[in-house]
Amino acid sequence: MASDQLSRQQRRKVQRDALERGAKVMARGLGPELGEAEALGIALIVHERLTDAGRPARAGEAAEMVETLLEKTLANEVRGLDLGCRKGCSYCCSALVTCSAPEIFRVASWLRLNATTAAAPIKLPEIAAEVVRRHGVSLEQMFNERAPCPLLIAGACGVYPVRPIPCRSLFSMSSEACRLALEENSGEVPIVGGAMQKGEMARTLLLAAVSAAGLSDRGIELTAGVMAVIEKPDAEARWLAGENVFDGVMGGDRSPGSRRAQDHIAKLLGALVG
Ligand code: SF4
Ligand code: SF4
Repeated sequence: MASDQLSRQQRRKVQRDALERGAKVMARGLGPELGEAEALGIALIVHERLTDAGRPARAGEAAEMVETLLEKTLANEVRGLDLGCRKGCSYCCSALVTCSAPEIFRVASWLRLNATTAAAPIKLPEIAAEVVRRHGVSLEQMFNERAPCPLLIAGACGVYPVRPIPCRSLFSMSSEACRLALEENSGEVPIVGGAMQKGEMARTLLLAAVSAAGLSDRGIELTAGVMAVIEKPDAEARWLAGENVFDGVMGGDRSPGSRRAQDHIAKLLGALVG
């Protein structure tokens, strides 16, 4: 029976079951396959946080929940692999990063607290100037420039503890292959496909919860998004109230497959909590 045809009592039972299954996966990480009930459970847990009106930073907290799940998952995924990735290797940090609003709020609130006290201080005015410079620059020009991410500070990610899902889930078996791809636009990068897929799965669960909560699920370019809200500590509350606080910031679409999966879970979730 579809969840929109269930009685209130049956709905509560499905919810309880999904929450229990979701909590188990949250504790151990995503496995090779994710069942529908487990996916629904995780999205439900994230949705509960996103709709807890008593928590002003609940969007960023929802991102943190999913990123914590992803970290557990990725630790399993890359265990034993001879990766090229290491601190100081940053050829991959020259691509535009698109992420969700909750991920942006998490980065922005971390920067408010840590930008000046970080081991390598982060100069927000310089980042803001780079965002302004990039405004109106075409994607092709950006690609040709291979300009590093403005949050790359002294060769390392300046927001490493709160970096968004796409940055977390990219691993390569060869740093040299990454260099060749960036500097000479040649060769294939041997990325760890399983890690990338888990990142996409995590993002799907976060965005399903976001859209079931009636919030905007649009992709937002990371640095411009952070700079749009960094000086506005009330931006998260305004976004949660339905305001478009990222007006004019470039976005990005999800692949049709990921979008379908997201819409499917959001629909199930909506029928359960609606
Ligand atoms: S993905 Fe490539 S460039 Fe990025 S840290 Fe790993 S090896 Fe280095
Ligand atoms: S946020 Fe950090 S990890 Fe992601 S592209 Fe920028 S510097 Fe690299």
